Amino acid sequence: TDRGGPILRTTGLTKRFGEFTAVDGVDLAVDRGEFRSIIGPNGAGKTTLFNLISGAMTPTEGTITLSGRDITALSPAERVAANLARSFQLTTVFNGLSVRENVRLAAQAERFETLSTARRLFADSGELEGVDRRTDAVLDELGLRSVADARASDLSYGDRRRLEVGLVLATDPDVVLLDEPTAGMSGDETDATIELFEDVLADRTVLLVEHNVDLVMRVSDRITTLNGGREVATGTPAEIAADDRVREAYLGG
Ligand code: ADP
Repeated sequence: TDRGGPILRTTGLTKRFGEFTAVDGVDLAVDRGEFRSIIGPNGAGKTTLFNLISGAMTPTEGTITLSGRDITALSPAERVAANLARSFQLTTVFNGLSVRENVRLAAQAERFETLSTARRLFADSGELEGVDRRTDAVLDELGLRSVADARASDLSYGDRRRLEVGLVLATDPDVVLLDEPTAGMSGDETDATIELFEDVLADRTVLLVEHNVDLVMRVSDRITTLNGGREVATGTPAEIAADDRVREAYLGG
């Protein structure tokens, strides 16, 4: 693995639907510990790019590497096992289970990708201890220790959001993929989520696809703007805010 280089890289990533090119030769290089956001007007290709990286869609051309390993041909589940975390919208909180049980399930999930890994899990009780340790670490990291035994359905809104982030972090991912995590939230809820990100995701590598530009400006180290499936510009929030090509992409769409 190339610890020094970008942890997540796409090279010439392209997705065509028939004649139409939704993602067009995108080269991304996300550094370890970076919070990178993808923005762009409606139809820019953000969701398609996200789906290519998470494995929900197969690219027409191009490659994706994680820590130097080519993951282009891996299934979504195999990518999770390779330490690329699922986004919020793919996680499920089980209302009837306790907070601890929810986190524990998520911590185990990546180990059940195949029957042989499940067998290995049960053959090796050390693995189970590892899951317990990881569960406790996530409960501590998210400040959920005091509600660990509460049913998920009884949580306050804020604690429920914390639990959702906890499920993403339960596998201790190298890269966290987030797909419009504040969609449908009120302003106050969005602010609380931003604070949670700043608190919990600060040292992590994150790729966020988001239409809320204010949110992106607040949380990102760097922002990549897409238009018509192509990268328009990549830079810090200040650089992106000052970029004429980005303004054109939004206004002239
Ligand atoms: P964004 O998330 O930036 O709004 P999308 O990635 O959803 O953009 O879409 C980019 C373009 O690709 C749009 O023009 C959309 O209509 C088209 N597109 C997305 N998915 C499909 C599909 N499954 N089949 C055909 N066209 C698609």
